[in-house]
Amino acid sequence: MALKSYEQELLDRIESGLKIGPAWERSANDKTLDVQDPATGEVLKTIADATVTDAVRALDAAVDAQPGWANSPTRARSNVLRRAFDLLMERKDEFALLIAMEMGKPIAEARSEVSYGGEFLRWFSEEAVRVHGDYRQNPEGTGNIVVSQHPVGPCYFITPWNFPLAMATRKIAPAIAAGCTSVIKPAELTPLTTIYFVQLLEEAGLPPGVVNVVPTSDPSAQSGTLLSDPRLRKLSFTGSTQVGIRLMEAAARNVLRTSMELGGNAPFVVFEDADLDKAVEGVMLAKFRNIGQACTAANRVIVHDSVADEFVRRVSEKVAVMTIGRGADEGNQVGPLIDQRAIAKTARLVADAVKNGGEIVTGGEIIDGPGHFFQPTVIDRIDPAAAMMREEIFGPVLGVVRFSTEDEAVTIANDTEYGLVSYVFTENIGRGGRMIEKLESGMVGLNTGLVSNAAAPFGGVKQSGVGREGGFDGIREFLSAKYTLIPR
Ligand code: NAD
Repeated sequence: MALKSYEQELLDRIESGLKIGPAWERSANDKTLDVQDPATGEVLKTIADATVTDAVRALDAAVDAQPGWANSPTRARSNVLRRAFDLLMERKDEFALLIAMEMGKPIAEARSEVSYGGEFLRWFSEEAVRVHGDYRQNPEGTGNIVVSQHPVGPCYFITPWNFPLAMATRKIAPAIAAGCTSVIKPAELTPLTTIYFVQLLEEAGLPPGVVNVVPTSDPSAQSGTLLSDPRLRKLSFTGSTQVGIRLMEAAARNVLRTSMELGGNAPFVVFEDADLDKAVEGVMLAKFRNIGQACTAANRVIVHDSVADEFVRRVSEKVAVMTIGRGADEGNQVGPLIDQRAIAKTARLVADAVKNGGEIVTGGEIIDGPGHFFQPTVIDRIDPAAAMMREEIFGPVLGVVRFSTEDEAVTIANDTEYGLVSYVFTENIGRGGRMIEKLESGMVGLNTGLVSNAAAPFGGVKQSGVGREGGFDGIREFLSAKYTLIPR
């Protein structure tokens, strides 16, 4: 299938090199990597594949740029971010198309990602000029304590493929605002959006070396070297818990600051007193956004016995008529999964759920290629022993578990090592309050299926991570407090 002419023109505008300091460069050994369209398997673009030597040179550039950037006026940093926001909004359709092409999500959702990702630029352009310390007296009355905030220093960012723009801006924007330089390694499956975004930052006036980009097909070698480099001061990672743990171990050996946004296993609880219209709308968003490939995706839909039949019927009717196809083509509601591994995992989890007594109401099958498509699926009466109760599904499969008491719902919801987000649907305000207290997660959606917002502290507890991105908290991850004692 040939690319449309406007798609090809967009791809032609994207740099194929590594961004190291001021230049876009080839890889040290001329290695390249192919970026594919997951809907067709077609190669979209071939880009430089960074070697470890390239990554070290990128860190050299970040280290060189660090003092100048740390000393730049906060208004200058704010202005770069604001210009970047304005440019991104002007090019919203272009970025949305690129995201849809390399990642596969429906173009309408890709536009939402550009809006969401862009908000981090605007939010942190506003936060950049509001970093402040404080002035205290020691209790003995013998001295004054002055607390000032300073950039942490050069950072290493590793981002996943499922939100190629927003996961990059959520790290890059607060780092720029705080006065930190960085090296970013986007996911090898979706590096084009990050590259194009860094081109935009350059146009917005970001000085050379402040953000450097080194996509690689060998992330383990790259991270091993950079995380042990004594000049690096911080790791910010978004991805799976499994990889996150390995990176935290490596970061610990170099005593790095870390922000870890890891996996999820979100419960979506529907009580008997829920507004079912809201709950159905909420689950469609929480489950099927991004083809189910979101850390915030509803992974376990936990529904009260008395409303489960109606809930399952209404959701299944909607799911059965979802339009499936290439994300970049207007109008589709379900795009491809990212690769064949994702298809195999989804099929395994569905087969396991059925073996454990789950009943497929709609979907359940792999769709023949080209591309990596799986039917949007609803499975009722999932057994607590089913693998999809513990593992992130990361596909368009909604499994319903039934419960009868509030305590039982809480027990099921918290029975996981993850704790990123929980969703609760109830019209009973007292129950809503109790659930917010009892649910073990960093975020709660009360009668809503979408919590992401640049002004809010996004992040998890338990094995879903450490640290927060966005909100007032987001910039703190890039600052260190320095205390000075002034004797009286
Ligand atoms: P992944 O962990 O496989 O990969 C994430 C990134 O880590 C990619 O850039 C990859 O190249 C890199 N990576 C893999 N092995 C590495 C290594 N040894 N050293 C250094 N880097 C390495 O995850 P994924 O499949 O890309 O993304 C999906 C996962 O991300 C899910 O678990 C999802 O829940 C999670 N996620 C979390 C959030 C959040 O904010 N909490 C947001 C989006 C995705």
